[in-house]
Amino acid sequence: MLPRLRDTYVDLHEHPELSFQEHRTAALVAERLAALGYVVHAGVGETGVAGVLSNGDGPCVLLRADMDALPVTEETGLPYASTVRATTADGTESGVMHACGHDVHVTALLGAADLLAQGRSAWSGRLVVVFQPAEELGRGATAMVDGGLYDLVPRPDIVLGQHVAPVSAGVLGVHGGTAFAGNDVLDIRLVGRGGHGSRPEATVDPVVMAASTVLRLQTIVSRELAAAESAVVTVGTMRAGTKDNIIPGDAHLGVNVRSFDEAVRARILASVERIVQGEAAAAGAPEPPTVTMRDSFPPVVNDPAETERTRGVFAAHFGAARVIDPGPVSGSEDVGILATSADVPIVFWLLGGWDPAAFQAAALAGTTDRDIPSNHSPRFAPVPHPTLETGVEALVVAALDRLAAPASP
Ligand code: ZN
Ligand code: ZN
Repeated sequence: MLPRLRDTYVDLHEHPELSFQEHRTAALVAERLAALGYVVHAGVGETGVAGVLSNGDGPCVLLRADMDALPVTEETGLPYASTVRATTADGTESGVMHACGHDVHVTALLGAADLLAQGRSAWSGRLVVVFQPAEELGRGATAMVDGGLYDLVPRPDIVLGQHVAPVSAGVLGVHGGTAFAGNDVLDIRLVGRGGHGSRPEATVDPVVMAASTVLRLQTIVSRELAAAESAVVTVGTMRAGTKDNIIPGDAHLGVNVRSFDEAVRARILASVERIVQGEAAAAGAPEPPTVTMRDSFPPVVNDPAETERTRGVFAAHFGAARVIDPGPVSGSEDVGILATSADVPIVFWLLGGWDPAAFQAAALAGTTDRDIPSNHSPRFAPVPHPTLETGVEALVVAALDRLAAPASP
């Protein structure tokens, strides 16, 4: 099936769709699943698709992939690079790219769905495959659950899935416990008093307020957390003004907070609030600023015992050298919601996607951070092989390990 999988991957990569706009991808998935004999539920949580293969008595395993792409203009130079442009929910026009590799996830899950359907004489139980929208907003898993996912498909005994990462293709990263950071997205509005650029004395400049707030926010992680605590505070957007000689009335900051521990998270969120209020007060703002929580999703906590079991299955299938422990990563995922909402364990692992020779060279030189583009980079370019076959095999062996042996004839 590899040539066909590669064609599917290239097709998905050339046709990326933004969060909750995954109509073409969802239609492709639904058609393939129906052809494989799955009962298909489309439109679950807007654009989500779920397929069910009932194959006798036994446990129920849920395999999950996410489908959405990002507002990133591709710079990989690949022959199948995306040239798609689209408009984001907030009205910004942008290039669109599978810069997080969700095209890898969809392709690998379609391959696993195919293999497990073809090989149904080798197992007994129920298989649920979930193709989730809008992971990048952190809203897709919740949308599917709220859209009745677990009324439409059987409640699973375990949730399994994977995310492609900038490590060597062919390698799997498995970490028990908190594996992916929690993610909080804050919209901050700083209010000043606008006026003519030539007369700052008649204004309160929100651009200076924003600049000073951005710098002060950097001190949360560097000056307020202990050395053993970890978190990330990133100001990813900063918007103010329309023209050089106008002092604008307000400024907006988009802040992303990653944390692994609820107590640390609470302290960071309180610090952001304190700093934003403090900088506004220091500037003499005519109105207090507002800090709005736009999105929030919890860390992914892999069940330790179930994760150990899956690590053993991977080591037996791929060889121990191909299974690493990456530790907790600062990336975030909303996949955990599919498990917590069903009150079942999850095992979610990293799937290496980078050219092994290039990765090895960068690792030896100590330059992986510089030379190996990470997810969300316009140069993020997983190699199709052996990434796709490793992704398919990982899903299949992890699922088969959970499903029952077939009833003897
Ligand atoms: Zn992703
Ligand atoms: Zn992403």
